[in-house]
Amino acid sequence: MADYYQLLGVSRDAGAEEIKKAYRKLALKYHPDRNEGSKEAEERFKEITQAYEVLRDSEKRQLYDRYGEQGLKGAPGAGFGAGFDFSDAIEVFMRDFGGFGGFGDLFGQRGGRRSRTGPQKGQNLKVRLPLTLPDVMTGVTRTLKVAALDPCDGCDGTGAEDGAEPTACPQCGGIGEERVVMQGLMGRMVSVQPCRRCGGQGQTIDRPCPRCNGDGRRRSKKEVTVEVPPGVSSENYITLRGEGNVGPRGGPRGDILVLLDVEDDPRFARDGADLLTERPVTFADAALGARVRVDGVKDQVDLNVPAGVQSGTVLRLRGQGLPALQSEHRGDLLVRIVVYTPRDLDGPQREALEKLREVEAEAPERLDRDEGRGFWSRVKEAFTGG
Ligand SMILES: [Zn+2]
Ligand SMILES: [Zn+2]
Repeated sequence: MADYYQLLGVSRDAGAEEIKKAYRKLALKYHPDRNEGSKEAEERFKEITQAYEVLRDSEKRQLYDRYGEQGLKGAPGAGFGAGFDFSDAIEVFMRDFGGFGGFGDLFGQRGGRRSRTGPQKGQNLKVRLPLTLPDVMTGVTRTLKVAALDPCDGCDGTGAEDGAEPTACPQCGGIGEERVVMQGLMGRMVSVQPCRRCGGQGQTIDRPCPRCNGDGRRRSKKEVTVEVPPGVSSENYITLRGEGNVGPRGGPRGDILVLLDVEDDPRFARDGADLLTERPVTFADAALGARVRVDGVKDQVDLNVPAGVQSGTVLRLRGQGLPALQSEHRGDLLVRIVVYTPRDLDGPQREALEKLREVEAEAPERLDRDEGRGFWSRVKEAFTGG
């Protein structure tokens, strides 16, 4: 992996604000919401986010400066290396910058940062939701089973036995933070951390609830309903706000991030809302023209094959692709015509073709430039509307 500073395009002595700005700019450029379907953008987004997550944190940054990525292996907080995946990157981005419009209420936008003191918010949960292209076509409502932390029955989530009131933490005096002085590369640094005695809550419990050992939570399974709008792709996620784990001792619930996973459909290649498929036709249909049926996502649709069509020609069925996300627009279905050469001819077929050979014109030495171009360059052209 490239140097973290290089990835963000900042110098090694860049300040926190500069790093944040540089990351934000790059993150907006490579954010999956703006790069539909691009795996490279996704990978890039993950890399810059990982770099940002290290450089924004003075402790991790020092470790990185001194030992490189190796130094981060044992670092507290988010797992690094193999553990840092795309959904972690999304979470980091949303934590610091929220979502950015367009997706409306379903997507993005997280509330402000949590304060250090008081009950901590519970963790977000991530759930993958596999979808098919027909699901994407219509949108679906799904019920998901999730293992989450719920308030403990024994103490109503307070963590204290018999409903006893928690008392102010003697270590931090109820503030929930402690200051730690560290000797760093750039001199003495004071960092503020959550109090170790009370975990940043500012309160301790004299007699913890025996059922949850004072944590205030229990494991449970629950079902959540998620509405997936039409037109989504694997780069989208849906936030179910306040449906995740409850925080310790009565802290508010985190969110559930539903990561959408649209399965490949062997019949189609997808580019945003446009779909591409292949339709073999007989030589006679290609030469004389024909009306054929073509697989759409849900139903078959009619396609007029013009007389004289060459193998490899891409025909466009407007509005027969997928719906675009949160828009009235419908993509197109692009059909690549492949002329099918018959095998195992029976008697009459062979006879007919031999008669044809007697009268047909010779094939040209080469096709017109326009007709001979490769499949993929045609597809590209079709997708870019050229
Ligand atoms: Zn309890
Ligand atoms: Zn404390």
